[in-house]
Amino acid sequence: MPLTKLPNKIINKYKKWKIDSFVNNKATYEKLASEGQSPIAMIISCCDSRVHATSMFGAEIGEFFIHRNIANLIPPYNPDGDHHGTSAAIEFAICTLKVSHIIILGHSNCGGIKNGYHLCKGDQVNEELLFVNKWLHILKPAYDMLEQSADEKKMISTLEKQSIINSIQNLSEFPFIQKALSSNEISIHGLWNNIGTGELEMLNQKSMLFESL
Ligand SMILES: [Zn+2]
Repeated sequence: MPLTKLPNKIINKYKKWKIDSFVNNKATYEKLASEGQSPIAMIISCCDSRVHATSMFGAEIGEFFIHRNIANLIPPYNPDGDHHGTSAAIEFAICTLKVSHIIILGHSNCGGIKNGYHLCKGDQVNEELLFVNKWLHILKPAYDMLEQSADEKKMISTLEKQSIINSIQNLSEFPFIQKALSSNEISIHGLWNNIGTGELEMLNQKSMLFESL
């Protein structure tokens, strides 16, 4: 058997939560356990530990259906019978939970976007990362939209936002999303969080520019 010691720090955090937060909200937990969930929105954010959507939006238990993946990407619609975790999460949120909003939450200093940038550019990347590299190819159409600049840092930052636009375009190709959009059952939002300043920018879907909230 491999070592399975859960760090004490994590165990202690759990115990503190159980006697503190859980006890104070016991009735809410019991209600959600018996009645099921009905979240108001789905959030698709990066796996990055610095992206703290529940804290940022002051989320209570049951409010957000959250899916995280590397670089908060939505892949193209592709019903090929393969394993598509992100598409499955979106399908469940829309078709079963009937969420009203989908929020794609990008962020600054995203390592996934940076790696994807170099991958799309044809730079040397870590070829051992089979799954990561395959996944980040989703960025190619967004990368191709970038204006060339000598300032590579700026291009990578722009790609963080351009990829959100590309994800919204991919999302709109899913038949159940098209159906929900045409009957005004859902709205889609693109957000970008600056980790260091706490700033949040929202995509204006007319101008296709990100504006501070
Ligand atoms: Zn990231």
